[in-house]
Amino acid sequence: MFGAVVVGIGTAGWVRIRDMLAPLPGSPAEKLNVKGFISRRSLDTQQGVSQISLEEAKSREDIHAAFICTENASHEDYVRSFLQAGKHVCVEYPMTLSYKAAAELWDFAQEKGVILHEEHIELLTEDFKELKKEVEGKVLQEGTLHFTGGVLKPGFGFQAFSGIARLTWLVELFGELSVTAATMEEDSGTNYSKLTAKLQTSDNRPLTWIEERGPDLPRAKNINFHFDSCTLTQIPPAPRAAVGLFMQDLIQFSAKLAGQVSPEELQRERTRILHCLQLAERIQQLCQS
Ligand code: NAD
Repeated sequence: MFGAVVVGIGTAGWVRIRDMLAPLPGSPAEKLNVKGFISRRSLDTQQGVSQISLEEAKSREDIHAAFICTENASHEDYVRSFLQAGKHVCVEYPMTLSYKAAAELWDFAQEKGVILHEEHIELLTEDFKELKKEVEGKVLQEGTLHFTGGVLKPGFGFQAFSGIARLTWLVELFGELSVTAATMEEDSGTNYSKLTAKLQTSDNRPLTWIEERGPDLPRAKNINFHFDSCTLTQIPPAPRAAVGLFMQDLIQFSAKLAGQVSPEELQRERTRILHCLQLAERIQQLCQS
């Protein structure tokens, strides 16, 4: 069994506790046992689980893993602190708000001989799985992914990082990318922002990623992908999976703890995550230069 703590009791942290209390039967997630939660607030028990201090969590021998579910700006420090204590870490995306910090943390995890896992539930949605099937085998000419959503709370970082899920979609669909240009429009008075990043595939096909947020914007993803054979303008509709997205991610993390994931797969994931963070950093640099 792996004892675990959850850091940060927001939406994600609450779901982590719920899923560990009722793991999918027969899955490696049954090996996780939630021992407590950590919060900067002083809270009552949550779903029957008690609050403990950060120091206690790091020093207890029956605690082997930490789930970092705080706002993005504090991920890096918590991840480093738990890795330093020799604990496995599952961190909600994005792992950090800089490429360099993430690369250091991966090296540190390797040095400590522990698992570092970044949650990417956007890759586990049925919508994405259907879209990936549709795209497979087609030759891209050009494309756009336009995301709209509400205003983020403070501490979630620059939009290229908070929106890393969209960037990750593009990389998983079209392979490694490079950034050719990026601009940011912002109106602090109305809390409106629009990031436009111009990307290119390895065979020089243009892709545009737009991340637009404002108080009245619905949460939606619009695509327009031109292939040599057809054009896709809608994400293929797909029924929701029977197993929730965070539970699927919990199963992936626990499978890693149980040594059931090959080193090649772990390396593939690390390469993709670092590539996406590198793209996000380049986009931020271009917007701020
Ligand atoms: P959240 O705003 O619900 O919580 C974020 C942080 O704010 C947590 O540390 C929480 O303890 C704190 N917080 C929440 N309510 C508070 C309050 N009333 N007073 C003081 N502090 C409070 O955010 P979230 O959706 O849980 O996101 C956490 C992390 O999970 C982020 O890194 C995000 O990118 C990631 N994530 C979330 C989802 C999701 O569906 N919610 C999906 C994928 C990734």
